[in-house]
Amino acid sequence: MCRFKLFIVMVSTRYLMSIRSNYSLVNMVFSRYHFGMTIERIEQLIERLSGLLRGDVRALLSDEGLQPVQLEALAYLARANRYSDTPKGVTEYLGQTKGTVSQTLKVLESRELLVKVPDIEDRRVTHLRLTDRGRELLARARPAPLLQAAAGEMSTQALLELGEQLTELLKAMQKANQFRCFDQCSGCKYNAPIAGGEYWCNLAEEPLSSAEVKLICREFSAP
Ligand code: SF4
Repeated sequence: MCRFKLFIVMVSTRYLMSIRSNYSLVNMVFSRYHFGMTIERIEQLIERLSGLLRGDVRALLSDEGLQPVQLEALAYLARANRYSDTPKGVTEYLGQTKGTVSQTLKVLESRELLVKVPDIEDRRVTHLRLTDRGRELLARARPAPLLQAAAGEMSTQALLELGEQLTELLKAMQKANQFRCFDQCSGCKYNAPIAGGEYWCNLAEEPLSSAEVKLICREFSAP
């Protein structure tokens, strides 16, 4: 009797373990294959798109002797608000080391594409502002000519849907990695409209202009 009970317990345990492992296998397969599109394929597409964009920008920047990452720093600074247009903000946004970003900023400054402006209240903080030359270069390179040409071949609806899906993917990846969001100030939970078409930041406890709320912020927090 005792042996029989032991046998039943062993068989039941094996059965339960097999259900559990099948369930995780199904989950794993389901999360990797969505309607024929594998995660690997999505990754390949993103890598290919990044490669094409980088190649296009590299060709455009070759006359200037600049690298795509230096243009990325410029593009970030053109959109960053006063809490984010600092060397630290660039480092966090690009996900690079402090030393690499420092070299990038030195090159941009020596080419007169940006200038360093000390903060009025806190002299330890340095803001990085684009010069007219920097803005002019950015206007020539962004959006990348290749991307503009490709967008011209797509319908408005398709571009809208693509933009929404890429935003969703970016948000999910930021959430998964607990990265800073760097999103537009107007959608932040700390942003509060006040009288006269102006806004108030409940985190910094400072007013924000209507132009500033269109910029991106390293302190952005989703509602
Ligand atoms: S409201 Fe949010 S996004 Fe805007 S400045 Fe304040 S913290 Fe940054």
